[in-house]
Amino acid sequence: MRSRLLVAAAAVLFAPLAIGIAALFLAARGPSVLTVGGGLVAVALVVGSIVHAVRVRRALGLLSLAPLALLALFLSSYCGAPLPPPAPLTVALPPATPPPGMAVFQLPTGVTHRSAAFGYRGGSMFDARDFVMTAVLVKHPRGDVLVDTGLGRDIGTQLAAMPWWFRAMTDWERSRSVAEQLEAAHYDRHALHAILLTHAHWDHVSGLAELTDTPVWVTPEERAFIADGGAIMGLTRDLVGVRYETYAFEGGPYLGFPSSHDVYGDGAIVVVPAPGHTPGSVVVFLALPGAKRYALVGDLVWQLEGITEREERPWPVRSLGDADPAAVRDNLTRVAAIAARFPELTIVPAHDGRGFATIPRLE
Ligand SMILES: [Zn+2]
Ligand SMILES: [Zn+2]
Repeated sequence: MRSRLLVAAAAVLFAPLAIGIAALFLAARGPSVLTVGGGLVAVALVVGSIVHAVRVRRALGLLSLAPLALLALFLSSYCGAPLPPPAPLTVALPPATPPPGMAVFQLPTGVTHRSAAFGYRGGSMFDARDFVMTAVLVKHPRGDVLVDTGLGRDIGTQLAAMPWWFRAMTDWERSRSVAEQLEAAHYDRHALHAILLTHAHWDHVSGLAELTDTPVWVTPEERAFIADGGAIMGLTRDLVGVRYETYAFEGGPYLGFPSSHDVYGDGAIVVVPAPGHTPGSVVVFLALPGAKRYALVGDLVWQLEGITEREERPWPVRSLGDADPAAVRDNLTRVAAIAARFPELTIVPAHDGRGFATIPRLE
């Protein structure tokens, strides 16, 4: 009897945990036979364990309500909960004089297979989304700037520097690296002035390994985070030969952000601080000839709904992936205000293919 009691008590505790883990994987790796099958097994475990507990001792069945309540709390953090609407933005679009010849291109380097639930609260775990890993090349007569690098040629071996739980939750697929695409397009690498990082997470810096002859611009906060940001920065820390250069936000407020850095002084490439996802995350505003404007928001949100529906990442994801979730909320609200005031400005989250739709590929 004693052993039956112990088994029943253990089942009551661990079965809801199994559903929690299954949900975590279903959201992080997207719906597949593995994740949906795992979820069904976990649900069967929970039902079975409660039935078993009630049969062994009715009180134990009641006790199972506590872990189930915790599970419900965990799952509810995936439900939609829009942030309060921002105060309307009253400023005008900052002036810009982008030079003729300036142009922007996208360089897709691969995808991770995820679900919408991974990207924003209210997204479905059964809505499969391929999160793109796309770099952006900004051609400018005074020197081209590459924003992020996506997945490099050696991503498979580079990932060994990442924690096991991170690798277990990440199902990636590489296409061509930035360096490979530049070479295929017969791009003159001397024209590449610098690489500007939205932030230094693994999926934005992997390609740096093949571009070590170009300086990499980061904020001082991000430079420090690379050095002491913990296990999640393992891949970045292990990169060899990268020449980091830091810059400051010497310019005034920009579209609701407190300060700015105008790369060439013409308003064409303007960087603003948007800390939260990482301590030194930035948003890059581009103004192109013909009045086309973009906001490359990096990983402030992973999917456009983050801005359009003002939904932050679910609790498990932001706890593991965001350095300061409250700061993410502030900056998300800022960008939501910009999107509402200037619908003609295209918001481009680093991992949402829909944001890149109007940006041509480099052929
Ligand atoms: Zn990131
Ligand atoms: Zn990312």
